[in-house]
Amino acid sequence: MSISEQRRIYKQHRAVYLTIPKNSAIEPRQRVMKRGFLTAAKGKKALSKATAPNAVSQSVPDPRPDHSGTKKTQTEDVLPEFLRDYNPKLSIGKVEQTGLPDGYVPWLPEVKQDDSDNPSRFRDDDLVITTQPYTAIGAKFADVPGGFTKCLLSGHARRLILRAPGFPRPPPQPKNGLPFRVMEIPGKGLGVVATQDLKAGDLILSERPILVAGSSSALLNPPMQKLSGLTHEQIRQVLLYEMEKLLEQLFAQLPEEQQKAYMALHNCHLEDGSGPLMGIKRTNGFNLTGLCDQGDKATYAGVFDTLSRLNHSCNVNAKRKWDMSSFSMTLKAFRPIPAGTEIVISYISDTHLLTSERQAQLAPYGFTCTCPTCSDPAASDAVRAKLSSMNVKAEPLIAAWAHDRTLPDDHLLKPALANLALLERECLEYHGAYMSTLFLVMRAYVVLGNVKEVARYGAIIVDTQQAVWGPGKALDAFRVFAKPGAFMGDPLWGVRKKI
Ligand SMILES: [Zn+2]
Repeated sequence: MSISEQRRIYKQHRAVYLTIPKNSAIEPRQRVMKRGFLTAAKGKKALSKATAPNAVSQSVPDPRPDHSGTKKTQTEDVLPEFLRDYNPKLSIGKVEQTGLPDGYVPWLPEVKQDDSDNPSRFRDDDLVITTQPYTAIGAKFADVPGGFTKCLLSGHARRLILRAPGFPRPPPQPKNGLPFRVMEIPGKGLGVVATQDLKAGDLILSERPILVAGSSSALLNPPMQKLSGLTHEQIRQVLLYEMEKLLEQLFAQLPEEQQKAYMALHNCHLEDGSGPLMGIKRTNGFNLTGLCDQGDKATYAGVFDTLSRLNHSCNVNAKRKWDMSSFSMTLKAFRPIPAGTEIVISYISDTHLLTSERQAQLAPYGFTCTCPTCSDPAASDAVRAKLSSMNVKAEPLIAAWAHDRTLPDDHLLKPALANLALLERECLEYHGAYMSTLFLVMRAYVVLGNVKEVARYGAIIVDTQQAVWGPGKALDAFRVFAKPGAFMGDPLWGVRKKI
């Protein structure tokens, strides 16, 4: 969809979203719950009271056809569970009745404007529009190295950012220039394609988000009496509406270039009641690990200019990681990516799930994955079904085989090498089964006294650790495996070596 078409749709939706229903007025914030109230005993008690038969009609007109007698409605039965943590799943697909329920009166959560980089400036529960790294209002985007991000956060989340060690570091950049191009991918719209050969572990890009906002409705603090009596779908529509209104406040503060970049992103939430800003955020937002409210009540998502262009595949070749100190998302290759290959990530947390489970997790994104793994579910599911049996401790197997001359020399190696090939075919190098199988192979070569293969697999273990998990203590410990002759003093060294 072109930018002008997106803008046209945005204007249409905006008109709808700015129209407050007739005979309604913005209510002052009254009886607003503290975040987490619902999960507290007091909150549960209050909510069950509010949703009990005959209780709701005292303060809010109840649209339910029958709220008296013994027959309980869906709302009465499930509302407390449904609203636990204020994080119900939002609508997806085509929703028949979008928009606000009749007679519903919106409320406006109070939003404070940040005007300093003082971590103690706001209370944990305050809702704040802030620029990170802190930038005076009116500053030009290009004047700040790495750019800046407009965020709608709680005071608690803002403090987490400002207190991150080293914040605000400039986002790291690849040594040889950006190794990719954003271009049209047949059947997929825009995507990101490598323009250089990339090795496992190579940095592709670090990027600050255009905007950051809560990835759930937890920030809203809706007054509970406004939601009681509504069906689940009506509550979802209310939450979508209120979240859109908050995003509008944030969007209005973005520099024009960032507004254009945001509106040019894909939106697959056109029929579920999401407003245009919310739809784009739901389609393109990435969760920012470690940025959350007190007690993990709300997590946050960022929408990016370039990273949000990455397409999904269950055969991933790159991995993203949120880095709070530079306030940027880092994208690295975790397996070799030849020039001309599309760089793809996974939108779901686990590509090692079975095909049907992955497709269910991808449903909110509004597309059917046609990657090689999804195209041959029988073959790919067979590998995934074996993952836990591949994820074994090598030592007991090695010890049993080393001295048992009734077993052939390739007793462990043959199936292990076959498993490695399967895992590489499925791009599952990040899974624990891959690392444990690499260990098994390397240890088998120790028993066989094969110096060359021990060093080769030792190096693959180090490279995999570096590419998938990055630097750290584990990587330092693994480096010994790649040293030639490191295992010559091992009690099992060469036990089965052929003379
Ligand atoms: Zn797939």
